Amino acid sequence: MTRPHITKETSPFWEGCTDGVVRYQVCSRCHTVQIIPRTHCSACQGHELAWRDSNGTGHVLSHTTVHRAPTPAFRAQAPYVIALIAMEEGFRLMCNADITLPLAIGTRVHIGFRQADGVTLPHIKECA
Ligand SMILES: [Zn+2]
Repeated sequence: MTRPHITKETSPFWEGCTDGVVRYQVCSRCHTVQIIPRTHCSACQGHELAWRDSNGTGHVLSHTTVHRAPTPAFRAQAPYVIALIAMEEGFRLMCNADITLPLAIGTRVHIGFRQADGVTLPHIKECA
């Protein structure tokens, strides 16, 4: 697996994964939410960003099943699902899920976490 490059801007997200929570940024000026950590707001370019904890709930926007994993770290998990989740706080999160979960577009899900090659990643835990 290609490990994420953890920087000063992204470390709160990765620390959140280790703590079992999805963290996202909110602009203090225009209240835009963003999941990809940045030094500035993607809407107004403001630099006053605060970190918040997601409640870990959202619904499936799209999903696909991976039968041939791209890296050795994920080969043992194949087949597995990659899903795009619309989180309740207003950002989108892409994460994996076990193929045994009955996912469909619109299914409400709870996000959990799973270790992959020494990194803690968001992983769909269950359907709500
Ligand atoms: Zn903003």
